[in-house]
Amino acid sequence: MTESNRDSRMIPDAERRARGPVVVIECFQEIPCDPCHEACNHGAIQAFDDINSLPEIDFTKCNGCGRCISVCPGQAIFVVDETWKDGLAVVRIPYEFIPLPHKGQQVKGLSRDGVELCEAKVVKVEDTKRNDRTPVVWVEIPRALAMDVRHIRVGGTSLAR
Ligand code: SF4
Ligand code: SF4
Repeated sequence: MTESNRDSRMIPDAERRARGPVVVIECFQEIPCDPCHEACNHGAIQAFDDINSLPEIDFTKCNGCGRCISVCPGQAIFVVDETWKDGLAVVRIPYEFIPLPHKGQQVKGLSRDGVELCEAKVVKVEDTKRNDRTPVVWVEIPRALAMDVRHIRVGGTSLAR
């Protein structure tokens, strides 16, 4: 599989993102792992022919529910909503550190490499039994950065949960 084919099977295109919340999977290492498929009861994450294969998504079936985010041991699954509000998007991010931020808190939006990109406002924190030990933090950010912000800095010292 070429890199662009591979990415298009895990990264929704702009047209799909403009239609509402949708999963983005950034899982690029072939490891024996498939709980994302089991977690999706909409059939959007295809069954794995080989447990070492990379995920393949049918974006027409994904409704952006976010159920798959917490099950991923690699914290490689996000949900992006570019239709949130004028000029703003929400990215749902798995977050396994303490302190957890709270709704309404201002945090920093970081790139995949930990570079600070923007101010981000926490609009929801999911930390239920179903999340196990991987809460999901919803952050509101500039829409133009929806495909760039993949982590947050809450402030002070962050520790693993
Ligand atoms: S966000 Fe929901 S519908 Fe989309 S792939 Fe994940 S579990 Fe399936
Ligand atoms: S659960 Fe996460 S690490 Fe495992 S295959 Fe799915 S996306 Fe990749």
